[in-house]
Amino acid sequence: MSRHAQRRDKLRQLLKKRGPDAILVTDECNVTYLTGFTGDSSYLLLSHNEAIVVSDARYTTQLEEECPDLTRVIRSPSTGIMAAAAEAVISARVSHLAVESHHLSVANFQMLESELERVECLPTTGLVETLREIKDKQEVAEIRDAIALAERAFAVVRAGLRPEQTEKEVADALEYQIRLFGGRGTSFTPIVGVGDRSALPHYRPGELRVGDAGFVLIDWGAQGPLYVSDLTRVIVTGKAPARLKKIYQVVLEANRKAISVIRPGVLMGDVDRAARGVIEAHGYGKKFSHSLGHGIGLQVHEGPWLRSNVERPLKAGMVATVEPGIYLPGFGGVRIEDDVLVTRDGCQVLSTVPKEWSDCQIHALGAAAS
Ligand code: ZN
Ligand code: ZN
Repeated sequence: MSRHAQRRDKLRQLLKKRGPDAILVTDECNVTYLTGFTGDSSYLLLSHNEAIVVSDARYTTQLEEECPDLTRVIRSPSTGIMAAAAEAVISARVSHLAVESHHLSVANFQMLESELERVECLPTTGLVETLREIKDKQEVAEIRDAIALAERAFAVVRAGLRPEQTEKEVADALEYQIRLFGGRGTSFTPIVGVGDRSALPHYRPGELRVGDAGFVLIDWGAQGPLYVSDLTRVIVTGKAPARLKKIYQVVLEANRKAISVIRPGVLMGDVDRAARGVIEAHGYGKKFSHSLGHGIGLQVHEGPWLRSNVERPLKAGMVATVEPGIYLPGFGGVRIEDDVLVTRDGCQVLSTVPKEWSDCQIHALGAAAS
């Protein structure tokens, strides 16, 4: 049985427990996860004995190549995708249909209900997402590849940093290098924040120049064929203020503390609290303004969520970021982000960019330009 067929079987078991006799999967990443199809504008209708992809003629060949084992419904250009999906539901004789309420718009849900008078449509959330939290060996290998792409690109960009480069140019250089190494691109617009801009956790790279301050925070990731990575490092390009070194060491301690507690059975909230406890003990609790981490996979933000209010246990096969930070407005910020795999008896840090304070220093910045 293919890995996609195995995933569909697991989803069927979840459906059986909850009652619906089929699910209409409308989230593109979930469709990819369950079928191997990498196009868009296509839904999967999964019942206990059928798996039907509802798509259009642009994808006929791609569907035949990527998921030959599935039944295909190719709608005509004059039939909308909701109408085509509704027809498939009727012909599959479904009576209770689960829908992905976190993805389906209200308008589409109402359209579906009006087309399906005799079918009960049941809003569900997170069914496929819960399956996606646990990665199989091949998925972990693909995440490792995405990390390697990001790290190779970072090494090249770091080595070539020049004082006159703008934040945006550094972000563009990362994108370019990832593509040169064979990736599809960055997994999100990189955050490149020079000096006090590093205190903005979701800063958009702008026109500040690397030489405008003594340090820069870079948060970037790569997309391989499908799977992604997400890392953050700080680079010290000039004379570092003592305060930066101080908060760096607190964040590094928090990063290591969190990683040290990760193993199956530990509550996700406890991993967040482990890192937060270190930062609070040093008096910076209020300056760590986001949760500790998130899963990565087909998307750069997915479950598991390492947040203080998530009291679910970690399981082997989960991959999540660990990214504590301290942000001091007007001065600057530090975040150290690694990608971590939960193993059977602990965890493995998949990212390998060195993170000691001494590893952050660039001594020859601008040498190439002088
Ligand atoms: Zn990140
Ligand atoms: Zn992240």
